Amino acid sequence: MVGCGKENVKSEAQNKSDKLKVLVSFHAMEELVELIGDDKVDVEVVIPEGTEAHDFEPTTKDIKELSKSKLFVYNGLGMEHWVENFLKNSKVEVVEASTNVNTIKNDGVTDPHTWLGLKDAIVELENIKNALIKIDSKNSDYYEKNYENAKQELESVYDEYKTKFDSIENKKFVTGHKAFGYLCREFGLDQVAIQGVFAEGEPSPAKLAELVTYCKDNNIKTVFAEEMGSTKVAETLAREAGAKVETIETFEGEGDYIDGMRENLEKIYKALK
Ligand SMILES: [Zn+2]
Repeated sequence: MVGCGKENVKSEAQNKSDKLKVLVSFHAMEELVELIGDDKVDVEVVIPEGTEAHDFEPTTKDIKELSKSKLFVYNGLGMEHWVENFLKNSKVEVVEASTNVNTIKNDGVTDPHTWLGLKDAIVELENIKNALIKIDSKNSDYYEKNYENAKQELESVYDEYKTKFDSIENKKFVTGHKAFGYLCREFGLDQVAIQGVFAEGEPSPAKLAELVTYCKDNNIKTVFAEEMGSTKVAETLAREAGAKVETIETFEGEGDYIDGMRENLEKIYKALK
């Protein structure tokens, strides 16, 4: 029995070392890398699960992790303000996943939440796929196949919800932090947010009062809130506006990407129709 257990541990360690070690900045990047790399990669995440992604500093442990990795994937566009310093003196292959995404501005700054647009996420997946092929060309067919599958799946979610959102008049939804600019662009939606693009601070009482009035005037019955965001503020807003709170996923610290995007879209659609 003991020998058997030991053998299992050994073979597991063996499997792990055969895999390509990839370090990513935060959870959404882990989701995207795993869609392409799947069995061939071993992904580590710099920003721990459940941590607010916009407000984070890496440690020396993370720099050690970087030196052991073959590839580092980050989103870019200010999502990881620490990245330049982090990559200083490193020779690891790097992918800025948002490269080639047609970016948008929100509140005067470039919105970094590119992975929350389905078509934009496909661009990010392509960048990741190309990098994996570059450093592990013997598995290029595998990465290409996974990319095609993920692309098709995301396009089918897009087609389904494009039709649904095109069929309804109401396009405005209220949410926690202003993370859904790319999703709004794809579906012609409008987000009204409690917090700004970088999820900074709590709203002032005046801003909250303004939001309550907005919800009442626009007959908003659902206020969306992220699991890790300002749920209390969302609850206060919902209570005062006579609305309910519904969770929405930004994948900054958790969540299964494709299923989660489908759920987000279904929840928004239900709130608007
Ligand atoms: Zn965010």
